[in-house]
Amino acid sequence: MPNDPDFVVEKWGTTRPSEGRVFAAVFAHSDDLAIFAGGTAMKLISEGYKGYFIKTTNDEMDSYDLSFAETVYRIAKETEDVVDYLKLEKLYSLDYKNHYLEHSQLTEIRHRLIMLFRFLKVDTVITFDPWGHYEENPDHYITAHAVETASWTAGRQLDLPELKDMGLMPKFVTRKYLVARGPQLVNRVVDITPVIDKKLECMKLHVTPMDNMYRTYKDLHPDAKITQDEFVESEFLQKADPMYGVEYAEKFHYIDETDSFSFMRNQKS
Ligand SMILES: [Zn+2]
Repeated sequence: MPNDPDFVVEKWGTTRPSEGRVFAAVFAHSDDLAIFAGGTAMKLISEGYKGYFIKTTNDEMDSYDLSFAETVYRIAKETEDVVDYLKLEKLYSLDYKNHYLEHSQLTEIRHRLIMLFRFLKVDTVITFDPWGHYEENPDHYITAHAVETASWTAGRQLDLPELKDMGLMPKFVTRKYLVARGPQLVNRVVDITPVIDKKLECMKLHVTPMDNMYRTYKDLHPDAKITQDEFVESEFLQKADPMYGVEYAEKFHYIDETDSFSFMRNQKS
């Protein structure tokens, strides 16, 4: 809330204070990044960040009625288009089966993320909030938990100690921009007004998932008179709450582990 002393509205500047920093946007699905944090990714890159997209599933179920193979093929291409559009360095797709991320895979995903975080020298993640409420998609909440655990174990000396012999030295991920579809603690709002048109263009590059979203919506609301473009705009062009003082925004639970070192992190003194 804006009256919280830790609450921040990130506005656009003209400097590049984040030169040398690296973020990984770790999401389950091709379209998650653009939907939840496309504007924020553009802003961080404009400030000097290098960005990577790590996608945990293969998106095989995100078409309306194509085969799995055709769906994977099309979305792989569309995701590369979005990576180029957002000026990200590279996509790493871990390609776990869509809708079937499981707790049994959690440790394996964590280890793959530790290796990538160390190799890419990631210091910031943009991902799902593992403490957000009412998230129903296991791909989202399993990814959230894997990223959260990998972020601190990547910096510890005795987690995967053999990686040090391979030159992948411990490094903590210290900044986290966490998104949620349901209620969460929001302490940071990123102004995306300057890039709202670009965010919308980026959404439209996700041709297959947007078609699926629209047709699924029509199944649930057969009487709705709305075109696909109108649907996408009504979903993703919602104005920010006036209390934030910006026209369009992306909202986060933001954590910076370097603010202070506290084993009991809620102790402010
Ligand atoms: Zn998703």
